[in-house]
Formats: sequence, structure tokens, C-alpha cells
Amino acid sequence: MPDDTVSRNEEAIEKLRSKIKVATAAKAAGLSTMSCPRCDGTLSESEFEGVMIDTCERCGGIWLDSGELERLLKRDSDSWFSRLWFAEG
Ligand SMILES: [Zn+2]
Repeated sequence: MPDDTVSRNEEAIEKLRSKIKVATAAKAAGLSTMSCPRCDGTLSESEFEGVMIDTCERCGGIWLDSGELERLLKRDSDSWFSRLWFAEG
């Protein structure tokens, strides 16, 4: 169902956006320690496809700064990213 796929993508994007807001607020507040919003694990920054992403060393979660999500989605809207995101079920 193409429509269902679109709505699920939009839902995922909204979830990510809310997490991005938290991370952005933390940075603005001067919190330099990057920890995973989900499990409080350590985030390590790495580059993927020219976009900087933060990967949690504990739970494997991936976090993106504002704008990075859009860049990845535009580039590759239906491959590794959506599969990774929806793999949790
Ligand atoms: Zn984590």
C-alpha cells in the first residue's frame, strides 16, 4: 500500500523531529555531553554518505541533527534508512 508507506514515513519523520528538538535544546543549553535519548549510552559521531550522524554505542540508535534527515531522505528515500528505522517494528 503506497499510501500506508507514505504515512509511516511521515510518522517516523515526526518522531525523529521531536528527538532532534531535544538534542538541539540540549546543545543550546550548553550540554556538550552527547548521550543517547533512548538508553543514555554514548553517542559517537560518524559520517555516512556525506552526512554526519550520531550512533549510539549501546543500543545502536542513530540520531541526526536538523536538516540531516531531510538530506538523507532526499538522497535515498526508500533504502537503508527506512529499513533501519522500521526494523524495530
Ligand atoms: Zn542508545
